[in-house]
Amino acid sequence: MTQPRQRLAILGSTGSIGTSTLDVVAAHPERFEVIGLTSHQRVDLLAEQCRRFNPLVAVLPTDERAAQLRALLQGSGLRTEVRGGAAALCELAAAPDVDSVMAAIVGAAGLPPCMAAAKAGKRLLLANKEALVVGGALFMQAVAEGGATLLPIDSEHSAIFQCLPEDRSAWARRVDHIVLTASGGPFRERDHDTLHTVTPEQAVAHPNWVMGRKISVDSATMMNKALEVIEARWLFDLAPERIQVVIHPQSIIHSMVVCRDGSVLAQLGTPDMKVPIAYGLAWPERIESGAPRLDFLQLKALSFHAPERSKFPGLYLAWDTLRAPAGSTAVLNAANEEAVAAFLAGTIGFTAIHKVNARTIDRLRPDLGPSHNLADLLELDRVARLAAQQVMKELAA
Ligand code: NAD
Ligand code: MG
Repeated sequence: MTQPRQRLAILGSTGSIGTSTLDVVAAHPERFEVIGLTSHQRVDLLAEQCRRFNPLVAVLPTDERAAQLRALLQGSGLRTEVRGGAAALCELAAAPDVDSVMAAIVGAAGLPPCMAAAKAGKRLLLANKEALVVGGALFMQAVAEGGATLLPIDSEHSAIFQCLPEDRSAWARRVDHIVLTASGGPFRERDHDTLHTVTPEQAVAHPNWVMGRKISVDSATMMNKALEVIEARWLFDLAPERIQVVIHPQSIIHSMVVCRDGSVLAQLGTPDMKVPIAYGLAWPERIESGAPRLDFLQLKALSFHAPERSKFPGLYLAWDTLRAPAGSTAVLNAANEEAVAAFLAGTIGFTAIHKVNARTIDRLRPDLGPSHNLADLLELDRVARLAAQQVMKELAA
């Protein structure tokens, strides 16, 4: 008997994770049907994706961009309805004819549609780590109450998930701690006294992974790993002290679980996001990902180092904010999004990113009640961005 196809919405389909997801999907037309695609700016690429995958819905942030896409698709005979606006994104994420949602938007902007998918009980493939860093307990509560299946796409979290027993109730009993690996980014070997001269182009040139610009800068500061520590805290319900980070420059071991008896389970592979994407798409099955295979005979030595606090101070903000009042990780994320955008725009230097993040979390102590909601988190995100902007003004003065 043939199985019904999995009906998929890809939020952020024009980004690095979005296009890799479509590559995997295209190789398995008998398994997946693309229901929805979305983009923020890249109307031309979204039009091309619509022609190739004929989704039911395509979403852009404004009516103006939606009109541009309609014009590009005119006369194409596609079934695609083009929609504009943020509400359309949440509607797509919760639509009854969608089984699975790939959350591949970058930043806190992805939180509302992720919450909508969680509440609607979807199979939620989470690449958009910022959504969980901001959403925290509220996000996990929506997953539980909505009966959603949350599958990590971030390579480290996919690795941990692959090493954990299928029975979730056994996790706490069997696991002592987890070790997230980090490549150390492009400046691992660089003298930290020269980091203030780093340009955006140098910062986005990652040695092992090809990714969007924001996460590439986060990898260079190791803020990406800080966000991943926070992400792991929620995904695997771990106390912050049970999450460790080691630098592993080859990016072959994608992360490890250290069991109570001292046994260490690791997941290995070439650094290609198509592996965790294919795993999330097919879980609990395994399908061809299209990624190059690991050749052990060609492997160089695998090495491990401690992340130096003097070089990567941002990493340590993960544990600080996890121990601070609820909402502190949302403040850190907002400050970092503002600081990275300013760095990419050439208005602040590379080392100022950490100053902005550290000063903003020092200044803003969130006071979220125990029954806070999505609107409270979005308001906190807004206020934290203003505070970060203020810090940047003071740094420039
Ligand atoms: P990207 O910049 O390449 O793509 C981002 C996508 O989100 C694009 O389709 C863009 O149109 C859309 N988008 C951007 N801003 C938006 C907004 N305000 N509202 C709606 N849509 C918006 O980013 P990426 O590298 O694909 O990363 C996506 C997410 O996956 C990030 O959270 C990142 O941390 C995570 N992630 C990426 C990788 C990777 O290898 N690229 C690995 C692990 C995790
Ligand atoms: Mg990662």
